[in-house]
Amino acid sequence: MKKIKDQIEKKVFETPFIDTHEHLIDEYERLACIEPIIPCDDWALLLNHYFSFDLISSGISKNQIDNLFSKNVTPINKWRILKEYWPYLKNTTSGIVFRHTVKILYGINEISEDNIPELQKRYEQTRKKGFYKYIIQDIAHIKHCHVHSPISACKKSEFSDLIFQDIALNGLIRVAIEPYSVPENVKINSLSDWHSLIDWWFSEYNQISKGVKIGNAYFRRLNFERVEANEVEKIFIRKIHLQIVSNEDEKKLQDHLFWYCVDKATEYELPVKMHTGQWAMNNAMNMNWVKDNPSDCASLCKQAPNTKFIFFHLCYPHYEEMLSLAKNYSNAYIDMCWSWSINPLAAKDFLKKFILTVPNNKIFTFGGDDKIVENLIGHAFVARKGISQALNELVTENWITIGDALDLTDDIMYKNAEKIFKK
Ligand SMILES: [Zn+2]
Repeated sequence: MKKIKDQIEKKVFETPFIDTHEHLIDEYERLACIEPIIPCDDWALLLNHYFSFDLISSGISKNQIDNLFSKNVTPINKWRILKEYWPYLKNTTSGIVFRHTVKILYGINEISEDNIPELQKRYEQTRKKGFYKYIIQDIAHIKHCHVHSPISACKKSEFSDLIFQDIALNGLIRVAIEPYSVPENVKINSLSDWHSLIDWWFSEYNQISKGVKIGNAYFRRLNFERVEANEVEKIFIRKIHLQIVSNEDEKKLQDHLFWYCVDKATEYELPVKMHTGQWAMNNAMNMNWVKDNPSDCASLCKQAPNTKFIFFHLCYPHYEEMLSLAKNYSNAYIDMCWSWSINPLAAKDFLKKFILTVPNNKIFTFGGDDKIVENLIGHAFVARKGISQALNELVTENWITIGDALDLTDDIMYKNAEKIFKK
């Protein structure tokens, strides 16, 4: 009989994911190299997301980072910039994601000065019309992706069976008039105009969206309270006339708009996806806010029992609290997107504990949370490796049987997502 580890690995690597969170732009926008999302069009672009945040953390200068992602620096000179930092980054998971991506996609086992021309050639050969489908479905073995667009609150997808756009609510809650929340020709003069604008986004896109996404944890605590419209009407007017708004008033206005949006999502039966935990961007993370995320999320679940809340990233590093939250609240779900690439050992530990602690229909195990499609290959590899290890350990530690582990795989990799995001 084949070893347990081999059987589980085979099953996990043969099972497709539904990818519940990415920041991909459309393929034609990628091919057109739209700035600033796509700053350059060479092999270094693959490093232009989580790897670059780790580079900044390692101490690389602003000038070096600018050059690494410049259109005016040659591919070989980009390696000469990276070389100094590569030994420190190659074993972080963002480095491992990159290494597996170039290995699986381009057949390059170890990056070095000698093979940069080959790496660049393979990058260019792959990056051509039709490569999104090739990478997502044929190589990464992903059925489809949910996408939070980095440039628009929502839009019709270029590939309607491959990329499903979530409605991104950040700007609608923060009243960010630029760059993407207000369609041209819409005039905003009052709070009720803003409500109509939110209504418009929902009525226009609820049919094609799988959910809504709220990333406001990057700007504040998640302690949203219900505030009536008449309490914030004047604050809204000050805000759109660019007058000073106190922190207290800003919170009130956002609280009101958050619940307006969440109630609207619930009316349209769209799950509400929320960022929790670790911040991607460097040198700003408020760890007190992050620490409060789990209890703030519990309060949201309690205030809106009919809303399905999907909490992202395990609220890393506070993942024990998220197990407790998901175990207790029937409307709390966990999406492990990005967590395999933040800390794969914590993600493995979380998944093992989740399986033994929380009903197993409430977890989605994959999203690369990336904007560069090639990287989905490395993210999916790391996630499948972690899921295999978690299941294998549960079996060999005698918590569950090999049959249980094999049965669970479909649910946690795609069936749970099919059931919850059924629209
Ligand atoms: Zn994200």
